Amino acid sequence: MGYPIEIRLAPKQGFHTPAEAKKHYGRYSRDGVTIHWWNLPSLVTDADHDNITNYILGKAQRGIGSVGYVVSNKKITLVVNAKNVSWASQKGNPTTVAIECSPHLNAEGYKKLGWLINELFNPTNGLFRKKPGYWKHSDWYETACPGTISMTKIKASVKRWEDGKWEEPKPVPPPKPVPTTPINTFTLWKDGGEYVFNKDTWLYDLTAVRNWDTVKKIKSFKKGDRVIIAGGVHNKYIDRTYYITRYSFDSKKATGFHPNDLDVYVAPRPIPKPPVVPVEPTEPDPIDENSDKLNKILEIVQWIKNLLSRVFKGE
Ligand SMILES: [Zn+2]
Repeated sequence: MGYPIEIRLAPKQGFHTPAEAKKHYGRYSRDGVTIHWWNLPSLVTDADHDNITNYILGKAQRGIGSVGYVVSNKKITLVVNAKNVSWASQKGNPTTVAIECSPHLNAEGYKKLGWLINELFNPTNGLFRKKPGYWKHSDWYETACPGTISMTKIKASVKRWEDGKWEEPKPVPPPKPVPTTPINTFTLWKDGGEYVFNKDTWLYDLTAVRNWDTVKKIKSFKKGDRVIIAGGVHNKYIDRTYYITRYSFDSKKATGFHPNDLDVYVAPRPIPKPPVVPVEPTEPDPIDENSDKLNKILEIVQWIKNLLSRVFKGE
């Protein structure tokens, strides 16, 4: 990776060519960089990058000063080509590339600055095939410049670029979320059923249970009360399963009964009725001979009665 370089070149009256420099200073080489700062941190902000560049270009226009590069956290601007000689570092001009730095360089600013220096000075592939020498403006001239700029940080950044350690790290896949066991686990039984309380007791709330002291009583039940149990809720902290209703299971409410308080409800056995002895069908009574005779007599009597009644009525 690298950075774009903004190019805002100074006019010719603002720098020396190598030949001009050799003539003017009696020497010319590119041995490293001279570091400057724009001004006291209290007087400029990092966002003054363009203002500083304009100010320097104005000096170049008037033929009284220039610089190689302007660097801030935001960007890098080329003002005088590195092989030419800008005018910022007095005695350091003919041998070093002058770099004007924002006094507010942050990690990104130092990273950009390190990249730039490594592009210029690198034995293998730099513009100048040598390691950079480092100078502060104050090494050449009586000045507070470059103030708070850290040469240590600059060198460390250049080293990282040299070593290829600024390469973008491969994106690390986010760690798989570790599945956390819920506090309460609900189970629906295949064969729930009716239970009866074997003592006066409670419906307990395990929702926030972390230990036995946090088991809450929420509703009382009497010995003999009955309840339909559909499953269980297991609390991982007390490692116990409580019995729950279908409602608690469906709504995932961790409220349940202590298993010791419940017995499977057995309906009382109905009192057995005495068995009905089946009655043998009885044969019809054999026809009573006497009764038959009696009937005949009765018929005769009736006939006589009828006869007599007709006689007396004169029919
Ligand atoms: Zn300076």
